[in-house]
Amino acid sequence: MKHKPFWQFFKSATRSFTDRRISLWIALVGLVVALLVTLVWLAGRYEASQYQAELDRDTADAVSDIRGSLGRHVLSLQNLHAKGLPPKLWASEVRNMFNLNREWLRVERRDAQGLVVQGIDSPLREPVFNSNTRMNEQAEIIQTCLRAKRLNGPAYSRSYFVPQNNGLGFEVIEMCLPTLESGIPVGFVLVTYGLQDILASQLGETYGRRNEISFIESDGTRLAIHGTLPRSRRLFSATQLLDLPGNTLVLRMDGRRSAPDVFPSILPALVTAMSIALVSVLVLLVKDSRRRLKAERDLADALAFRKAMEDSLVTGLRARDLHGRITYVNPAFCQMVGFEAEQLLGKSAPMPYWPPEMVGEYQQRQAVRLAGNAPPREGFESVFVRQDGTRFPVLIFEAPLINVLGKQTGWMSAFLDVSEQRRIEELSRASQERLQATARLATVGEMASLLSHELNQPLSAISSYATGSLNLIQQAQSPAETLGDLKMALERISEQASRAGKVINSVHDFVRRRDQDREVVPPGLIMDAVMPLIQLQAHKLHVKVATRIDEGLAPVLCDRTMVEQVLLNLARNGMQAMDHPDCQDRVLSLQVKRAASSLSHGWIEFSVSDLGVGISDDIEKQLFTPFFTTKSEGMGLGLSLCRTVVEQHGGHLEFVRQAPNGTLFRFTLPTASEV
Ligand code: ADP
Repeated sequence: MKHKPFWQFFKSATRSFTDRRISLWIALVGLVVALLVTLVWLAGRYEASQYQAELDRDTADAVSDIRGSLGRHVLSLQNLHAKGLPPKLWASEVRNMFNLNREWLRVERRDAQGLVVQGIDSPLREPVFNSNTRMNEQAEIIQTCLRAKRLNGPAYSRSYFVPQNNGLGFEVIEMCLPTLESGIPVGFVLVTYGLQDILASQLGETYGRRNEISFIESDGTRLAIHGTLPRSRRLFSATQLLDLPGNTLVLRMDGRRSAPDVFPSILPALVTAMSIALVSVLVLLVKDSRRRLKAERDLADALAFRKAMEDSLVTGLRARDLHGRITYVNPAFCQMVGFEAEQLLGKSAPMPYWPPEMVGEYQQRQAVRLAGNAPPREGFESVFVRQDGTRFPVLIFEAPLINVLGKQTGWMSAFLDVSEQRRIEELSRASQERLQATARLATVGEMASLLSHELNQPLSAISSYATGSLNLIQQAQSPAETLGDLKMALERISEQASRAGKVINSVHDFVRRRDQDREVVPPGLIMDAVMPLIQLQAHKLHVKVATRIDEGLAPVLCDRTMVEQVLLNLARNGMQAMDHPDCQDRVLSLQVKRAASSLSHGWIEFSVSDLGVGISDDIEKQLFTPFFTTKSEGMGLGLSLCRTVVEQHGGHLEFVRQAPNGTLFRFTLPTASEV
């Protein structure tokens, strides 16, 4: 099974964390809001219930206040009667009582039949009744007094409306108190109460400021009202029965909350303040978590990017700690050596990818590194072995691993698998060798034709010397003379034969010495080796060859055959350039000396100059291009080959135009001491 890549796992994990976190946050916010709303609502409810209870208590108190004061009225009237005052005095006493009891509208004294004996209206206001209105209610009054007589105590009438002259009116009730003498009812005292006045004088002071107080009937009809409430305020209401003998009134109190509705008291205000604080903290938390989330997401992105970068690298990466243990390898490295990361992590020398025969050498190298010696910046080459046993060359770049505190924690190495480059180099080297071989063969072919031409000379000389010698022997007259001539002829024959042999040998050597091995050769020897071949062609083209080899030159380290070929090529080109009818001075100069430039100090310079046609600008552009030639029988490989050979030796090949005509080619080779 393939593992999910780490960063994908990280990303998906982050996403699911994020989803879960968001839903958790939503739940938390929802819960907190619900809690706060409930708290505020409960606090409001509690406050309201407190207020309602208070209002209920107030209403009950108000009812008992009214009842108490009505009781006191009865008592004071009974006392007044007990005094047995004459009508005038009674009237003045009653008038005094009006001052104390402002709810009294009128007091009447009636006889046992219910007829009015004496009637006094409140001096504090206009008389409420005229004779008509008073008469309308007689039946009700009689009923009440009969009830009072029956109860032998005060009785109250139903309330009734008394219209006034100004078009308004008000509700009143009557209280009938039987007056007794020696336990026998002798008459009645009738007090008319204004209902609104009862409310005003009894409750106005105490409850009227904050409440609207009213008497209502059982069906809700308002009989009298005291105080008003602003309509916009929240209303609370409480009712209480005022049970009076003969009548039952309902007292209703409508109150309002003393504080504003939203923050009616400290408790809800406190809860609200706490809620606001909680919500603020929540908001801050949400902000903070969002910031953290963003940082996490950025980090995940950066990590994923870094991972993607590492994974797509073709360079192998490996980190080691200061003890040489592997702490990190990237996929490219694993692929390179064919091991899984798990097989490599934590490993120390000898590494599984070291060739067994090189363990000692590598361990030594690693010891040098761990001792703190920095590796070369340009990297070094090494050989690793894959898990399947194949070896491959790697280019290693190592650098100290420095942490954020600037402290070295290990070594970081980058690896380049250079097997492909090596293969390509090998291919190009092989093809170059093939090219060189081909070029050499072409030269050999040319040489062969030259040889046949040149060998003709010594061979025909030999043959004529031999014929001459035979003739001498046949016509011998004086043996002494003949012997002298014969000796000379044979010497010539031997000379020519050895010359022919030399020519053949030089070609033979040239063809046979194929190995690329470099050797230390004095420059003079190289010149000597090529001279017979150069001379051959020079004779043919009527060219004079001048050589100059400086004294005391250091030997050069080179592939002798190839360098000889370079010299041959250059000399041949020079001679061919002079093979022109217009060219009168046909001199080819070969020179070997120390290189003049300070850069190439310790190098030897070979130069070949001719007085030929020279090199035009057009030809110059393609001079070193393989297969470029201006000659019908040329191959165009000579100069490109020469340059390759010289550059392989680290040297440099160039040409200089000669005045008035001709060209000089020169190249440098390192001396053995320089290398
Ligand atoms: P090839 O000799 O087979 O033509 P080379 O690569 O040796 O191939 O030379 C390429 C061309 O450069 C020649 O054809 C010639 O035109 C020109 N050339 C080389 N050397 C000289 C020289 N010394 N003087 C003039 N032209 C030269």
